[in-house]
Amino acid sequence: MGTAWTAGRRVLISGASIAGPSLAHWLHEYGMTAVVVERHEGIRPGGQTVDLRGAGRAVAQRMGIEDAARAACTGEDGVAFVDARNRVRAAFAADVFGGEGFVAELEILRGELARLLHERTREHTEYVFGDHVTSLDDRDDEVRVSFAHRPDQSFDLVIAADGIGSTTRGLVFGDEVRVTPLGLYTAYLTISRAGWDGSWARWHNAPGGRVVALRPDNLGTTRALMSFLCPPRGFERLPVAAQKELLRHVFAGVGWEAPRVLGELDAAEEFYFELVGQVHAPRWSSGRVALLGDAGYCASPISGMGTSLALVGAYVLAGELATHAGHRAAFRSYERIMRPYVTQAQHLPPFVPHIAHPRSRAGIGVFNALLATAAKPAVQRVARHALSPPAEKIALPDYPRFRGSPR
Ligand SMILES: Cc1cc2nc3c(=O)[nH]c(=O)nc-3n(C[C@H](O)[C@H](O)[C@H](O)COP(=O)(O)OP(=O)(O)OC[C@H]3O[C@@H](n4cnc5c(N)ncnc54)[C@H](O)[C@@H]3O)c2cc1C
Repeated sequence: MGTAWTAGRRVLISGASIAGPSLAHWLHEYGMTAVVVERHEGIRPGGQTVDLRGAGRAVAQRMGIEDAARAACTGEDGVAFVDARNRVRAAFAADVFGGEGFVAELEILRGELARLLHERTREHTEYVFGDHVTSLDDRDDEVRVSFAHRPDQSFDLVIAADGIGSTTRGLVFGDEVRVTPLGLYTAYLTISRAGWDGSWARWHNAPGGRVVALRPDNLGTTRALMSFLCPPRGFERLPVAAQKELLRHVFAGVGWEAPRVLGELDAAEEFYFELVGQVHAPRWSSGRVALLGDAGYCASPISGMGTSLALVGAYVLAGELATHAGHRAAFRSYERIMRPYVTQAQHLPPFVPHIAHPRSRAGIGVFNALLATAAKPAVQRVARHALSPPAEKIALPDYPRFRGSPR
C-alpha cells in the first residue's frame, strides 16, 4: 500500500548497477516514479559473480526475479586453491557450508544481474545513460539537479546508488563519509575460455601478496581476477591503459595462468580496476538525499555481502518511504533497520585481506594447509562460522503489497 505521500513522487536514482534498478522496482510498486541516471553508456558489463545470499535471496524472491537469476547462474561447482603447477591444495564444493561459503549456491555475474534488473524495470522507469549529476540544490520542497549533459530538473528525492566512489554522495556529504581502504587492489577482466578451464573456480597465490583467480561463467568466457596487496597509491584513478601496464609490471614473473591473463589484457574490453575498501558514513541521508548500496555502506567484495546489502537496502528504503508520512521519518527508519545488518557485513574476519594474500612461500603453504583443514568434513561445521558471511542477520520487514508484487 502506498501512502498519499508517495503517490506520484519523482525520485532520481544515480547508478544503474544493482542497488539503483532494485530501488526503481520497489518505488514503482509503491506508486512512485524513478529516473535512473548512469554514467556508463549502457548497463555496465564486467566483474565476476556476485552472491545472492540469505535475506538478499529472499528479496530477490519477493521481486519475482529469483528464478530468472537462478537460470542465469554461472553454475560453478566450487573453488579450488591451486599451486603453480595447478595441483589442488584445498577445494570447497559449492554446496559446503549449506551453499553459503566461498561460492554461494546462487552465483550470478554482476553484469547479468544488472541487465536482468534493468529489463524488469525499464518499462516503467526512465533510464538516462552516459550522464551524471553535477550539482544538487536541496530546497525544502524539492531537489534541483544539474546534469553534465541535460537540462536541470527537479525531483522530490535523490538517491545516490553510484557505488563506492559515488560522486553524487560527495556533492552532499563531502569529506563526512570515509572510504576505508583495505590495502588491496583488484582488477577484473573477461578473457577467452580455455579448454581446461572446467567448471570450478581456481585461485592461485603467488609470493608478494599476489593472487590470480579464474572463474568459469555461463556466457562461454572466463572471468579473471588479479589482486595484490598495496597501500593506497591512487592507482584506481589512473587511465585504463596505465592500470593495465601496472598489472603487467606487478604480475611479471608470476607463473600458473598469469601470463595467459596478462596476454589478454590489451584486448579485454570488460575491465574493472578498484582499490578495495569499505564505506563508513555517519549518516545515510541529508534532507531529501539518501545513500543506498555501495555508495552508502560498501562492505567490499571480500565480505561476499555487497549485492545482498544493495537488494535488501533497496527493499527497505522503498518500503519505509511507502509506510511513513514523509521522507525524513522514512530515511531515519531505513537507517535504523539496516545499520546493524551493514555493521555485521562490514565486520571482516581478522587479518583480511592479508591472510588470503600471503607474501612469502612459507605463508602460502600455511594458508593452503589451513584451507585444506577447513575443507575436511569433520571441521566444516566449525569453519562454516568463520567462512560464511552474516547473510541471514536481518529480519526483513513485511511491507503491504501495493501493485500485487510476488511475496
Ligand atoms: C563494473 C563492476 C564490476 C564489479 N565486479 C564485482 C565483482 O566481481 N565482485 C563483487 O563482489 N563486486 C563487484 N562489483 C561491486 C558490486 O556490484 C557491488 O558491491 C554490489 O552489487 C552493490 O552494487 P551497487 O549497485 O551499490 O554499486 P555498483 O555495483 O558499484 O554500481 C554503481 C553504478 O553506478 C555507476 N556510476 C558510478 N558513478 C556514477 C555517477 N557519478 N553517476 C551515475 N552513475 C555512476 C557505475 O557505472 C555503476 O553502474 C562490481 C561493480 C562494478 C561497477
